[in-house]
Amino acid sequence: MNISNFIWFNGEIVPWQEAKVHVMSHALHYGSSVFEGMRCYNSHKGPVIFRHREHIQRLYNSAKIYRMPIFWSIDDLMEACRIIIRKNNLINAYIRPLVFIGNVGMQINPTPGYATDVAIAAFSWLPYLGENSLKQGIDVMVSSWNRVPANTLPSTAKAGGNYLSSMLISNEAHRNGYQEGIGLDIYGYISEGAGENLFEVKSNILLTPPCASSILPGVTRDTIIKLAVNIGLEVQEQVLPRESLYIADEIFMSGTAAEITPVRTVDGIKVGTGTRGPITKKLQHLFFNLFTGITEDQWNWLDPVH
Ligand code: PMP
Repeated sequence: MNISNFIWFNGEIVPWQEAKVHVMSHALHYGSSVFEGMRCYNSHKGPVIFRHREHIQRLYNSAKIYRMPIFWSIDDLMEACRIIIRKNNLINAYIRPLVFIGNVGMQINPTPGYATDVAIAAFSWLPYLGENSLKQGIDVMVSSWNRVPANTLPSTAKAGGNYLSSMLISNEAHRNGYQEGIGLDIYGYISEGAGENLFEVKSNILLTPPCASSILPGVTRDTIIKLAVNIGLEVQEQVLPRESLYIADEIFMSGTAAEITPVRTVDGIKVGTGTRGPITKKLQHLFFNLFTGITEDQWNWLDPVH
């Protein structure tokens, strides 16, 4: 269980155990929440929230797509995130802002004028896909479950309900002895993992599915593209068939929780040499060195907590 001492809840700092909601909350019944996942790294500048504004902007975009009002401004919530990290005395943390429709009645479309609830938790979280995953890589399978197609549930929104699709994919993978599953879109092209975007390396070119392949446009995905372009690596966002997974030189998954996790096998087929590839390793170094200062932060991605 992930736990820390305090949670920011509708403008108040409350003890972790007391941050409770009513069982008739709309979000519990209908999945009507939007959320973010961010990380705070203990860097050469002290604790910093990585790409803070972009994450909170995505939270607002997710809410806007669902016409969910947020009482607080982007700057208010950014300050609340810094406050909750300081309050919990954290230096390395995963941060989970959540906006949800609470106890406003059971009608599917809440009466206009309703208010949403906002909570922000921050706690320690080790590499999401396992202790040694960043070095050794993980074994993944292509899921029998497809990702949600366009114009059903918008994949651009990071909404609670979307994670039922992620649960099916991740559960199937775990039951079959894999660490993660890859979802295909309804046309059979690669979409993403249950909680990560996906990259392939083929002949020194970095390939990743486009937003049209039912993906969440990941902040880490965007970070990797910018870091790669910056070192002169060719990057192509393109529709990728399932079988490209089996003949790629390298594969890795990216996400705030998963960071940059190499994939060593897909459906039991070795990716390249079956170990972390050189381009994956290079990108990991560039990424993690943003927090040591060795990689120059040309983009102003580090938001100090203090
Ligand atoms: N896809 C899904 C389904 C996710 O849950 C996540 C994690 N937020 C990602 C991709 C990666 O997004 P990010 O890099 O912004 O964390």
